[in-house]
Amino acid sequence: MELQVYIDGKWYPKNEAKISIFDHGLLYGDGVFEGIRAYGGLIFKLDEHLTRLWESAHTIMLTIPMDVKAMKTAIIETLKKNKLKDAYIRVVVTRGVGDLGLSPWLCKKATVFIITDKITLYPKTLYQKGLDIITVPTVRNLPEAVNPSIKSLNYLNNILAKIEAKNGGCIEALLLNHQGYVAECTGDNVFMIKKIGKGQTVKDYILLTPPTYLGALKGITRQAIIEIAGRIKLPFEERVLTRHDLFNADEVFLTGTAAEVIPVVKIDGRGIGAGKPGKITNMLLKDFRALTHKDGVRYTL
Ligand code: PMP
Repeated sequence: MELQVYIDGKWYPKNEAKISIFDHGLLYGDGVFEGIRAYGGLIFKLDEHLTRLWESAHTIMLTIPMDVKAMKTAIIETLKKNKLKDAYIRVVVTRGVGDLGLSPWLCKKATVFIITDKITLYPKTLYQKGLDIITVPTVRNLPEAVNPSIKSLNYLNNILAKIEAKNGGCIEALLLNHQGYVAECTGDNVFMIKKIGKGQTVKDYILLTPPTYLGALKGITRQAIIEIAGRIKLPFEERVLTRHDLFNADEVFLTGTAAEVIPVVKIDGRGIGAGKPGKITNMLLKDFRALTHKDGVRYTL
């Protein structure tokens, strides 16, 4: 059976799932979205994702034409229709159909669509070998312009960075903010680990990530990792970071809904730590994966 897609209260086969070319989501990137995962019939951090969706919508003054409960039902129904226990869930709310001007108030009703599909992951070997990433010339959007905390449909900043990474022979880009501080990657947050003691226990290391006000999305995976660090007593701090800090980290990794926790072993040609995924990163990845199969909103097919 063809994949079923939810659009505004109804389900359509993938090839018939269409929205208007006058939708401002398409014309202007005017809208918000979420990427969510389901693991073995458990939707991971659903409330957190929906809170972020509603907050992004609130900031851009977009009314989501349903409540959170109805959204949850629509997501679960879509998963059921597609018989998916393990899935990537894309929830999109656009400004809706308007005219060719910008005016969002001429768009009468927001469009909501939900795609659930099998996830395409980074190849397994990259988790074993680690990523080689580069800093790109495109700087992260200014928080005073299009705030990176808004998960909007306007991803051109990230796409430019992705193109520049590919031009430089890498699959992921590190974006700095306009002051030159580390912001995030194109679809992932950045963390580093630094040894502060003898390296015998986790207390001999510190986990660092830039504060999101420097120009990063408040990642749900980022938050989950911070909470795991708290539980395993791994010291943690939000800190302003430069490339120099990352180059000299013992470990670097990225976090995101799709990538989960992925090690970085090279940045701009500089090897990170031992040049292979570090033990703290691997520990966090293991704990994170365990959490995804334990915590979540359960549904049955
Ligand atoms: N930064 C950006 C720019 C993103 O698009 C994403 C989501 N793919 C993330 C970070 C990670 O956020 P999350 O852990 O909530 O998926």
